[in-house]
Parts: sequence; C-alpha cells; structure tokens
Amino acid sequence: MRALMNRILWLAISWICVAGCVSHAPKQTDAQLQRFEFQKPEMGLPFRIVLYAPDEKKANEAAAAAFQRIGQLNDIMSDYDEESELTLLSKTAGQGKAVKVSDDLWRVLDRAQQLAKESDGAFDITVGPVVQLWRKARREQKLPDRENLAIARAAVGFKNLQLDQKLHTAELLVSRMKLDLGAIAKGYANDEAMKVLRSHGVTRALVTGGGDMAAGDPPPGKKGWRIELAPLDVPNAPPTNFVMIANQGLATSGDLFQHVEIDGTRYSHIVDPRTGIGLTDHSLVVVIARDGMTADGLSTTLSVIGGEKGRRIVEGHHAEARMVRNVSDRVEIFETVGFKKYLQDK
Ligand code: AMP
Ligand code: MG
Repeated sequence: MRALMNRILWLAISWICVAGCVSHAPKQTDAQLQRFEFQKPEMGLPFRIVLYAPDEKKANEAAAAAFQRIGQLNDIMSDYDEESELTLLSKTAGQGKAVKVSDDLWRVLDRAQQLAKESDGAFDITVGPVVQLWRKARREQKLPDRENLAIARAAVGFKNLQLDQKLHTAELLVSRMKLDLGAIAKGYANDEAMKVLRSHGVTRALVTGGGDMAAGDPPPGKKGWRIELAPLDVPNAPPTNFVMIANQGLATSGDLFQHVEIDGTRYSHIVDPRTGIGLTDHSLVVVIARDGMTADGLSTTLSVIGGEKGRRIVEGHHAEARMVRNVSDRVEIFETVGFKKYLQDK
C-alpha cells in the first residue's frame, strides 16, 4: 500500500515537473533564429538542408541526424549497392520467395504500386532491367542492343511485383526482375529528413535532393520557401519562375540533366515501361504535393503520360503540376488550375 502511495506521489511530482518545465521553458522567438546551410552527397546526389535554429550546435546536431537518416535510407533503397535491402530483394526474383521487408521499404513499395495502378503502368518500379541498359547506353553513347532490350522488357511489369498488405512481404514473380526506386525514393528521403529535423525542434527547414524537395515551416517572417524553377532549354519556353511552398513537397522531372543523344535523338533517363525506350519528347515537369514522395512519384508519371492524361491522377492526390514540353519544335504548356496560386513575382 505504502509502495503504491509512494508511486502515486512520485507520478504527481513528475507531472508537476513536466508541466512546470513546459510552461517555464524560454520560448524561442523568430528573431533568435539564425540561418544555417548544409550539403552532403547522398544517393549519388548533392543533398542540401537549409534550416533556422537558435544556435550552431542545435543546427549541426539536427542536420547530422537528418543526413544520417538519408544515408540509412540509401542503404536500404539503392539499386547501385549490391548489399542494399532492395538489391537483395531483387536477387530473389523468380525464386518463389515472398520476402518480409522493412517498414521504410514497405512504405515506398506500397506507394509505388499504387501509382503504377493509377497510371496503368506508366510509373513502374520494375523498370530496373531496362533502366540499366539505358545507363549503359549513356556511358557508351550507343543505343541498347535490340535483343538485350527484348530480354530486359520481358522482366518488366508492375503486376509481377506482389505485395502482401498483411504480412508486408514482397515477391518478384519473374526471374531477372530488378526494382529501381530512383523515381520515388528521393522524395521519401526528403520527407524523412524533414521529420528528423522536426524531432530536433527544427521546423523552419528545407531539404533538397537533386531537383526534389520537402519544405517545412517557412523562414522567419516569410510566407513560404521561394523556389526558383529553371526554364526548359528551348526557344520560346516560359522564363524562369518562382514558386512559394511551405509544409509541402516539390519535385521536378525531365531530361534536362540526364539524357543521351544518339544520331540526333535525345533519350531521357526516364523510360516508357511499355516500350522500354527512353522518352524522346523533351520536357520539364514540376509537381507540388502534400509531401515529397507524392510529388516525386507524380512528376515522373507525368513525364511518361503527359499532362492531360495525368491530370486526373494529379488531382486525385490534391497536387498541382506544370509540364512544359517541346513537341516538334512547338512548346506546349500544361498546368493544373491551382498551380498559379504558387507562382510568385520575380
Ligand atoms: P525522376 O528523376 O524522379 O523522374 O526519376 C527518374 C529515375 O526513375 C530514372 O533515373 C530511373 O532510375 C527511374 N525510372 C525511369 N523510368 C521510370 C518509370 N517509367 N517509372 C518509374 N521509375 C522510372
Ligand atoms: Mg520522380
């Protein structure tokens, strides 16, 4: 009985302490926050974090933890790393094995499969075998061999990736299948890094990996993060624009930075899974969505199917998008109705 009374008393004291600690903690004002910027290569890309924190120690700790989380996700999701969870999963292709996957991998696989269904396979993380041929094509400046392409294509198809919603297992039904999360993992990594920053009390931050980003609360005194959108590199394309985002994800996709030009045709690193060929219509897509993973997946999807066909999918995710495409020397612009509300004056 006495033990119980002591315990109740102890609990009551701890509550008073907790309540006291919270109410007397010095409140941070925006004026006390300073801007810090960090950069580190991860996932084969420069990742950048801009954050506002009360002091350098807090900023360094939060950024180090966020980069560590990105590194951890790279160890799970890289298709370059022979030992990553993703590569080991791909190695079970065609062996009749359903493999239990980590929570992180599950979230990304599950979302990817949802997008594959919505887009009727235009977005497809089983494109790995074909993407690898195009990576080789880029290195050698030579189109993939027809026969090899046919073999690779036979191992592509999102319906051959079976996920068990209850057991969180994944099974690759066909041998030679290879998963590639290049179109969605950056967005997830940005979101997760943002979560880590928040858990360190840093809410005013922006995490960028390649052309994708996750924005938290705005910088002090601002309504959002001002992001510069590069124009498509063709005559008559709309000029540089700026958008303002907060607590959202933004992604860009296109062939601007990664492509191979062979015999006068430019092939993107994004492939149409239904043909196995790198996209040849020169385009630039921007998507703003509720989080980075959604934006990342949608921007790649739109690159493949185009704005008009993708409109329903984008709207279904309450996202906004703009696509600029150069079709036979004509510039086409697609924009969802709500995209303009993010546009800023120069
Ligand atoms: P992103 O830069 O987000 O548009 O993603 C492009 C990357 O996703 C490529 O480098 C490939 O690794 C992968 N990929 C290419 N085509 C597709 C596709 N149709 N669906 C899903 N992933 C793809
Ligand atoms: Mg993407």
